Amino acid sequence: MEYISTRGSAPALDFAGATLAGLASDGGLYVPSAWPRFSEAEIAALAGMPYAELAAKIMWPFVEGSLAYDRLLELTTAAYGRFSHKAVTPLRQLDEQNWLLELFHGPTLAFKDVALQMLGLLFEEFLGRSDRNLTIVGATSGDTGSAAIDAVAGRDKVQIFMLHPKGRVSDVQRKQMTTVLADNVHNIAIEGSFDDAQAMVKRMFNDTVMTDRFAIGAVNSINWARLMAQVVYYFAAALQLGAPARKVAFSVPTGNFGDVFAGYVAAQMGLPIEKLIVATNVNDILHRALAHGDYSQGTVTPTEAPSMDIQVSSNFERLLFDVGGRDGKALAAQMAGFEASKAMQLTNAQREGAAALFQSAAADADAMRDTIRWAREACGELIDPHTACGLYAARNGGIDPAVPVVTLATAHPAKFPDAVSRATGEHPVLPARVGDLFEREERMVELSGDYDAVAAFVAEHATAKV
Ligand SMILES: *Cc1c(COP(=O)(O)O)cnc(C)c1O
Repeated sequence: MEYISTRGSAPALDFAGATLAGLASDGGLYVPSAWPRFSEAEIAALAGMPYAELAAKIMWPFVEGSLAYDRLLELTTAAYGRFSHKAVTPLRQLDEQNWLLELFHGPTLAFKDVALQMLGLLFEEFLGRSDRNLTIVGATSGDTGSAAIDAVAGRDKVQIFMLHPKGRVSDVQRKQMTTVLADNVHNIAIEGSFDDAQAMVKRMFNDTVMTDRFAIGAVNSINWARLMAQVVYYFAAALQLGAPARKVAFSVPTGNFGDVFAGYVAAQMGLPIEKLIVATNVNDILHRALAHGDYSQGTVTPTEAPSMDIQVSSNFERLLFDVGGRDGKALAAQMAGFEASKAMQLTNAQREGAAALFQSAAADADAMRDTIRWAREACGELIDPHTACGLYAARNGGIDPAVPVVTLATAHPAKFPDAVSRATGEHPVLPARVGDLFEREERMVELSGDYDAVAAFVAEHATAKV
């Protein structure tokens, strides 16, 4: 498979190249040059497979040319062998129509493990064939950082530098990052907000003093390999509910539009999806874009679902590219306009293309709390605040009662215990596998919000690219 940039002027790459590159050199995102398509019979034949095998079958057309099938299967078996549930992403029924797809059985209790456990292995595989060293630099509001660190800790030829805003991630999230003591892991607590940390990372990607010396890679969802890995659980869930003979709808708690774009990819591959419901919190740029065509950046309001406190959704560009006719030049101009004015209107083609599959809803604080309470009282389930946004949108989405609606449960409730106990009066318990987290030693450096201090720290500890 060949990968092209959404902005039309970066060189096309193979899967290995796109995985190591992260962002394309023209500022765009890599997408497959065409969607692989499974026939109805091919989809039906996937039913009942163990998750790791299903994953290899779904990923195969995307990686072909960069990995042999048997090697791919070894990697999916290793990645998903670390999950604490045999089904990897089990489905749970809530009521007649609603289901939860539990994506939090990985090592750090959020859905990001599903993609990052695979990405860590892919980095090691592709770097092992070359003499390259990779320097991953990322900013996190919590979940990406812990999942990425777990995925690359101790791996050869990779160093990871993860910036988090000091004092603004939860204790569980911080400890999941800082108690990983491997030599290639560097946690940096910076003074300032997540946006400040993110701005420093973006600056480093464009800092030629740094990029001349280091191969700087990305682990956020601009990396195509992450989205590819997430396509698998849409198939897994739909197959269990009767696909391809029966359509299924999904409700997806959304921030950067990565997870829900993976659902869009599943639909392009032939999975019969009735609707993809984009669920946001009050940071509702995506809801406004899908409902009114208005993609304009507001200021971020902190909520109890912090991993969705986002006002620019990087992966939305991939959708605009695909539904807008795959015109890289036109999209580059549209995105340049957005970057200059922080606002843009979707074209008619983009609005109509998106409306065919997507609908959206935004949950405010009351809706989140009431939904957490409903899940506990009516269904006996503790859910986290991100999942609650999804379930709120699922229950209010007006989907045909004959169609099952699967809400993606993106985090374990014990990752966000305060919000859960405020809503239900119950304190969710951390699973035994992470039980001694609070006794483990922590290691991190604290730096000011000054870019030069962060760049100097990275330069001192990273390994040059060759
Ligand atoms: C990252 C995250 C999200 C948002 O996922 P996107 O791919 O950015 O849309 C939702 N819920 C949780 C718990 C997350 O960690």
